[in-house]
Amino acid sequence: MPEKTEHLKSESGTTTPESVVNNAEKPLHERESTYSGIGGSKGIAIGECYTFAKEEGIHEIEELNDKTISEEIERFMAALHRSEKELKKIERVTTRKLGKGYSNLFQAQIMMLHDPVLIDAISLRIRTERKPAHIVITEEFDQYLEKFNNSEDLIFQDRADDLRDIKDRIIRNLHIRKLHSWLPEGVIVSSYHLSPADVILLSRSNIKGFITDSGGKTSHISLICKSLNIPIVVGLGNLSQKVSTGMQMIIDGSTGTVITNPEEKTIAHYTRKKENEKKHEDNASLTAELPASTKCGVRITFYANIDFKEELHALRASGAEGVGLFRSENLFTDGTKVPREAEQYAYYREMAETIVPMPLDIRLFDIGGDKLIYSPVKEPNPNLGWRGIRILMDLPEILDAQLRAIIRANTHGNIDILIPMIISVEEIRHVREIIEKHYAELAKETDPPVEKPEIGAMIEVPAAVELIDEITKYVDFISIGTNDLTQYSLAVDRNNVIVQDLFEKFHPAIIRQLFRVIGTAQKNRCRTMICGDMGSDPLALPFLIGCGLRRFSVVVSDIPNLKSLVSRYSLAETEALAHECLKLGSSAAIKACLAAFQAAH
Ligand code: PEP
Ligand code: MG
Repeated sequence: MPEKTEHLKSESGTTTPESVVNNAEKPLHERESTYSGIGGSKGIAIGECYTFAKEEGIHEIEELNDKTISEEIERFMAALHRSEKELKKIERVTTRKLGKGYSNLFQAQIMMLHDPVLIDAISLRIRTERKPAHIVITEEFDQYLEKFNNSEDLIFQDRADDLRDIKDRIIRNLHIRKLHSWLPEGVIVSSYHLSPADVILLSRSNIKGFITDSGGKTSHISLICKSLNIPIVVGLGNLSQKVSTGMQMIIDGSTGTVITNPEEKTIAHYTRKKENEKKHEDNASLTAELPASTKCGVRITFYANIDFKEELHALRASGAEGVGLFRSENLFTDGTKVPREAEQYAYYREMAETIVPMPLDIRLFDIGGDKLIYSPVKEPNPNLGWRGIRILMDLPEILDAQLRAIIRANTHGNIDILIPMIISVEEIRHVREIIEKHYAELAKETDPPVEKPEIGAMIEVPAAVELIDEITKYVDFISIGTNDLTQYSLAVDRNNVIVQDLFEKFHPAIIRQLFRVIGTAQKNRCRTMICGDMGSDPLALPFLIGCGLRRFSVVVSDIPNLKSLVSRYSLAETEALAHECLKLGSSAAIKACLAAFQAAH
């Protein structure tokens, strides 16, 4: 739920008295107001709001006669055809701008337009119930939408967004309305809901930013905005009903803040903040390609977390020294279709060749849980259910195909394998045995020769932390997934807005686990990396270095800044900081300690 404060609070949390006086003199609807949502993609936008409402259309209810029934079915079929043409256009724009990985979303929507069950059901009802197409379409889609919306699973809620987009598109096309996709240049678009297709199309009008009532940090629109480098604030409740076209606003995608009718001093404050951020980014990218080391010369390596191969083009300029995490589950394009071995081989090979000699750590499919679904069963508690290595062990055909594809692609020897959701050494042993079996076969028959990938375990469940001594003696490397480690250690669903305040990576329990994991891995000479979001947080950086961590895998755009920070610290200082944090008993105290360290450097 969005939080509203009537006036802006300064950075230190105190009220600016003049702003209150000026503000209070204005009529309510013109006063500066601040709302909190969820920051989906960082950046500040200052400008005019444009309220984007999809044309729902007003329809008269009428009964069809024998002649108009056939016309109505033809009209429905023509609307499907026009919708398909539109989606193909969006797909082309998406492929050009973001690559195939993102455009697959629209292929899935195009497939829905061809769904014979849906088309037959709608045509039959138009014929038998003599109702106009828009009513039948609305009723049919709404049945599914209700089920999806009532689902507690965020994946289904995201799918509901796709479904609603298709419904609106077909209905609009029944009335042959022009696609509403060109907006005035440079506005901040507000909508109760936006589909990925809307975001891509609207971004052609140089949109400064987006705000939506729905959505979360992990929804497709947030991810697409990150790739397009456009700020977005999502999850704003019903803010779209309170704002209007032409209204001045500021959005801050890092903090999830929206300010309507900003006072001049607020605009000045955010303009400065935006300029500072830009200066900071420019300075950081100047030195990004240089290796990063601490004041005393300890090398720190930054790798990239990648979701699609198209992101690789930005790798070298960002200063990344390889891919520390490729989330291969993104190859499940429509969420359910298992990618074939040949398709995977081509994909991995292209990635490995693009970045050779840099390393590419491919994480085996982390399907299930809150991610893409493969599960044919509806689980009551998917995050504690059939996910990651559990699915791969139960469905050997999926694991075999992926391992073979990876080994075949490893002709340069730069690919490593990372196993998700590990809770036991047996799981790792199981995968190792299958790798050995396939490698023995493929080494004989493949030309050019292939190399055996190294094996790493994701440390993201408390059980793996408990077993860290055994695990780090058994694997070639580990990667700490703090997103899931926080979720499973604190029993806080990482996607549940209600308990978001409790999702605290600086909780003493997490801090102590990290210290222990990194220290044990170091003792056992096991290569260690962090790939969870915590690795991107500048506040956590000196603490992690002080624990002994030397490898970070983070979103590409965060690398230049993190690299520039490293040289401010000496190892001794970071080690003292890490020991200090271990003694503290609350997240607030730990954050205060880290903030003080940051301010002093
Ligand atoms: C993690 O859990 O921290 C992680 C990096 O994996 P994902 O976010 O893909 O679950
Ligand atoms: Mg994880």
